[in-house]
Amino acid sequence: MSLPEFTGTQVNYYMVCHRKLWLFTHDITMEREHEIVQIGKLVGQETYKREQKEIALDDRVVLDWMELQDNSDGTKTIHEVKKGRSVEAAHRMQMLYYLYYLHSKGIEAVGQLDYPLLKKSERLQLTPQATSELRMVLKDIERILESSEVPPRLTTKRFCEKCAYFELCWS
Ligand code: SF4
Repeated sequence: MSLPEFTGTQVNYYMVCHRKLWLFTHDITMEREHEIVQIGKLVGQETYKREQKEIALDDRVVLDWMELQDNSDGTKTIHEVKKGRSVEAAHRMQMLYYLYYLHSKGIEAVGQLDYPLLKKSERLQLTPQATSELRMVLKDIERILESSEVPPRLTTKRFCEKCAYFELCWS
C-alpha cells in the first residue's frame, strides 16, 4: 500500500475551505502566523507537558502524542489536542487521515481528539465507512491542487475571521 502524500494540515484545511487549502499548498503565507493558531499550540503545550510530545512521520504527519501503553487489542492510541470544536468535522477528518497514514505503515491505532478547555474528548476509529469517506476527500484534494485556479472564497465569513488569509480574501 503506497503512503498517502498529504499533510494532516492539508486535510484539515480541505474540510474548512478549499481556497485555504490551495493558498497554503501553494506557499502563499501571511506575514505573521495567526494568533488563533498560536493559542491552539499553547493549549497543547500547557495541558500535556508531561506526555510524550509531537511525533513526526515522513514530514507529513505530526502526531501530538501517542500513549506509551498499547490497548488490549494491540492497537496504539494517538492524541490530537484542539482548542475548540468550531471546526470539529475538520478535526475528525484530520485524525482519520492520521489513522489511515499509520495503517499504511502497518501500525493500527485509534484516535482521540482532546479538547482540554472544554474538558471533553472523542475517540475515533478507522472503520470501512470512514476509510471510504477519507479516500473521497483525498481524491478531491488532488483535484483541487492540480488546478491552477485558486478556488473561490467562502460565501459566509463564519470561518474567515479566524483565518490567516482573512485580509487577502476580504479586503
Ligand atoms: S479567509 Fe475565508 S475564504 Fe479566505 S481562505 Fe480563509 S477561510 Fe477561506
